[in-house]
Amino acid sequence: MKECNKCKSKNININSLFKFHDIYNCQNCNYWTYKPIDDCCRDPVKIIVIDRKDHQLYFIREQCLHCGGCINKSKPLSSKKFGDQIRGELCESSEKERWDNYYDEKDILFNMKKEYRLYNSPWYKYYVYLSTDTWKQKRKLVFERDKNICQICKQETSTEVHHLTYQNIYNEPIEDLIAICHKCHRQEHGKPSIEENNKENG
Ligand SMILES: [Zn+2]
Ligand SMILES: [Zn+2]
Ligand SMILES: [Zn+2]
Ligand SMILES: [Zn+2]
Repeated sequence: MKECNKCKSKNININSLFKFHDIYNCQNCNYWTYKPIDDCCRDPVKIIVIDRKDHQLYFIREQCLHCGGCINKSKPLSSKKFGDQIRGELCESSEKERWDNYYDEKDILFNMKKEYRLYNSPWYKYYVYLSTDTWKQKRKLVFERDKNICQICKQETSTEVHHLTYQNIYNEPIEDLIAICHKCHRQEHGKPSIEENNKENG
């Protein structure tokens, strides 16, 4: 958004708090909207990987080690140019995880937009909190205490932290938190992962 869709002012503030979307906020009338960022995530670390479809056919792609994203799937890279830079195989589970996280964020932004108010929205407040050092420190302690193992399935490596209760949110003791894997986390919040979705649909 170069100028405000509502009042045409060019006084737009771009907010980069979210991982996969930019928020455009008009300083004149307060109208705001969001758009996916151009890259996979804010902090891309991309490597060249092989995407094997079957034994005869494969494609060369770019996958991000940071978010798992492999975007522009419709345009595989040329094997002439990139063939000697291949560093591994496409990790499908982390790619799915990236899209799960992307759509979760989109849902949150959609809900914020429904509430309309940006900076006073409880969603926004929660996101700001997740980027604070206080939260990062708690997260680290929870992972250490739970030895990086998901406390639900007791098998997978934990990649996320889950609130057992939101009663003390913003001031929660680490007893309110558990280390959890992505798949169990989605189940706890009543959302099947894309993987399971596909299974259910055949
Ligand atoms: Zn405006
Ligand atoms: Zn990325
Ligand atoms: Zn788990
Ligand atoms: Zn949770």
